[in-house]
Amino acid sequence: MGLTEKEAAEKLRQEGGNVLSESRRAGPARIFIGQFKDVMVMILLCATAVSVLLGEVSDAVTIILIVLLNAILGFIQEYRTEHTLEALKSMTSPTAKVYRDGKLTEIAAQRLVTEDVIEDEAGDRIPADCIEAVAKTAGITNDTDNSLNKPNIIYCGTSATKGTCRARVIATGKRTQMGKISEMLTDIDKELTPLQKRLAELGKAVAIICLFVCLAVFGAGVLRGEDVFTMLMTGITIAIAAIPEGLPATVTIALALAVNRMMKQKALVNKLHSVETLGCTSVICSDKTGTITENKMTVTENGVVGEDYYFTGMGYRMGGRITAGEENSYVDAKKSPALEEVLRCGIICSTAVISLPERKRGAVREWKVTGDPTEAALIIAAAKGGLTRSSLDVDYRRAEEYPFDSETRFMAVHSTSPGGKMIWFKGAAEVLIPRCSSYMDAHGNICDMDSNTRRRLTERVLEMSDKALRVLALAECRSDVFDPQRGELTFLGLAGMTDPPREEAKEAIRKCAAASVRTVMITGDHKNTAVAVARKAGLLKGGKAMTGAELDSMSDEELDREIGKYTVFARVEPVHKLRIVRSFKRRGEIVTMTGDGVNDAPAIKEADVGVAMGVTGTDVTKQAADVILLDDNLATLVGAVEQGRCVYANIRKFVRYLLSCNIGEVLTMFLGIVMGMPVVLLPVQILLVNLVTDGLPAIALGLEPPEDDLMKRPPRSSSEGFFSGGLMWKIVFRGIFIGLSTLASFSAVLRLGGTVEAGRTAALITLVVSQLIHVFECRSETKSIFRISPFGNIKLLAAAAVSAAVLAAAVMLPQLRVVFETVPLTREQLLAALGASAAVPFLAGIFSSKKE
Ligand code: ATP
Repeated sequence: MGLTEKEAAEKLRQEGGNVLSESRRAGPARIFIGQFKDVMVMILLCATAVSVLLGEVSDAVTIILIVLLNAILGFIQEYRTEHTLEALKSMTSPTAKVYRDGKLTEIAAQRLVTEDVIEDEAGDRIPADCIEAVAKTAGITNDTDNSLNKPNIIYCGTSATKGTCRARVIATGKRTQMGKISEMLTDIDKELTPLQKRLAELGKAVAIICLFVCLAVFGAGVLRGEDVFTMLMTGITIAIAAIPEGLPATVTIALALAVNRMMKQKALVNKLHSVETLGCTSVICSDKTGTITENKMTVTENGVVGEDYYFTGMGYRMGGRITAGEENSYVDAKKSPALEEVLRCGIICSTAVISLPERKRGAVREWKVTGDPTEAALIIAAAKGGLTRSSLDVDYRRAEEYPFDSETRFMAVHSTSPGGKMIWFKGAAEVLIPRCSSYMDAHGNICDMDSNTRRRLTERVLEMSDKALRVLALAECRSDVFDPQRGELTFLGLAGMTDPPREEAKEAIRKCAAASVRTVMITGDHKNTAVAVARKAGLLKGGKAMTGAELDSMSDEELDREIGKYTVFARVEPVHKLRIVRSFKRRGEIVTMTGDGVNDAPAIKEADVGVAMGVTGTDVTKQAADVILLDDNLATLVGAVEQGRCVYANIRKFVRYLLSCNIGEVLTMFLGIVMGMPVVLLPVQILLVNLVTDGLPAIALGLEPPEDDLMKRPPRSSSEGFFSGGLMWKIVFRGIFIGLSTLASFSAVLRLGGTVEAGRTAALITLVVSQLIHVFECRSETKSIFRISPFGNIKLLAAAAVSAAVLAAAVMLPQLRVVFETVPLTREQLLAALGASAAVPFLAGIFSSKKE
């Protein structure tokens, strides 16, 4: 069936890949040229060209070299960012299940070609336009016309919501209906995030102020009789140095690096935007099975009417046994008719497969399991009683299956049996027990179901659920006709299975509580099971539990009033998830919601951050989600929230650093001119500071590890301003002090009898050293520079060392002295320069240490 790999490869060459629109990926050349597209840099380069014409060649060469160096740094960062986003895109790109060389394999959907035969099931995204062999209009399988609204065509981009199908591909890529309308589609949004937009606006405001300052500096200089061209160059240089037009780009880099880190921690972020929102999360709505628990089920007890059985051996370990009653006597399932029938029913109703592992010396032998863990648990339980699928095969052949569905909460299988055809049922106890009109007692007799037995069974279900067990009921009925909806079933027994909470999940829940993030558990399981698991996982802590039915009986207003008191939502269907998200959102919470099934997609879309499970999640859910957890683990999600908070805090750190440095520089130049001093710093010196020595430490600040108390603070409100908590004042004050220190150092050297060149050299040293000290102050908004370990961010130390080395070279190397017009300083001059840079942070440090 389908194509061979060879045929497919040939077709792929002819038809091209199955991609909707080739995204125009920026190549290295385009990224590099992009670095010069800034208006200010262009003006500078033009002015430099003019200066060459006027004979000022050495300055011009220096300026060009500095701009080039800056472009290279920018290029490296942007290229890495592009790379990360590309890698992310390839990791989240869809796959298709296709027959190649007669075997069903999973390939990247991009490699599909026409005539491929694919399989789809509920939750899959259709990867190309395909024709279904068995469909609403069967029999026209040689149709290759994919025009719209044809009933036998499944269209690329739509999703399978129920059932399964096998289909032949008739159009791929741009030739699909979706391809024809998708030129505008992009997978990863490259729109500015809200934070970037706000910073871009801030950048514009600062730019306008700076331009005024530049005009003032230029005007005042010219009026004082300085050379017009020199003043023009100075004005343009200040503008370049001070206008923070690169802020949104730096934020992109910080976000992309965070995305990269999250990817390594097994959280794939589809949209940069979500990194910011993750940091504001105030409620996490989490699935239970596999996310809070291990999804490694073990049947620990079975109850048939009149007898209880217990199983030894946890998880997938081989070699457990079955005991009965309290005396712990081993039971032979072959001699206990009801137990044997229950175990048999479990095998027939399961598609999971267990196989023998390789024997490894000294290792505990465990079954290798593929398929639904709930079903695998039943198969392993049967194996403990000596029943396997192969021992049943001869007499009991599966014919048809009515698959499990979270909404109906049961499944059924039609099979042959020695006594004629039968239907076997397994599902939630509340669904199946009411449909049973008889039961099999421990000896294998079929008895009528009386109200007393029904009540005892219900009590037994509650008793098992209270022990955190997932309880399934198993039943059968003799019938030639397969009708899964029929009543009058014979009850066989209950299977109670445990699924221990994941250790990392317990830790994650504790972390969330400390960070004032509410974690609520949403599950399809029984309320008592859910409550018991929540208690074990440390989640309940005084919270209440509600079922989907109780949720249905509440109005939206009631729900909004009450929802804050609930930690567990049990027997929940996907529609309920949507109501839960909306209710939390109406209360002003920022909601992160996890999900795996197709029907979870609306709730995932509605949540502020939608999270899909990488292992159990369907294509549709993954597509709707902002984040995909590759290991389905709550701890990974909480780690992503922490990263979200960390990157936001880091962005505040480097914005603080860059803006206060810029204010310092502009102020130095402006006040210098206003106070009648010679031009304090030359254009090449300003460019050196701003484009070379500033940049690396700023990027390194973006890589700060999370502060210790980051997950001990409440989440920031999403409406909170970027400069909240007095950040703006900190920036302005520190900027003013950097400017004043630089001026002080310049004028001190002049007063000590130094030349203007010596003054400039001292000012350059003060400015760079002040900034390099300030970068360490920016590492924390709450702690003084003396209270944070200088070794917490090695990259920052390295960046600061590089910047200091650049400064030392510019001041000490004779060749560079010519370029940057610096001169050797006397000991007093050097002390004045260094003292001026250290005084303010030293005093500020002492002052704030006292406050702490
Ligand atoms: P969770 O949030 O814990 O992952 P869920 O919402 O996915 O749970 P479902 O898997 O939909 O829950 O299960 C709901 C109920 O359906 C279970 O409590 C159980 O009674 C029943 N059930 C689960 N799996 C099966 C199965 N494979 N066959 C029959 N019944 C099942």
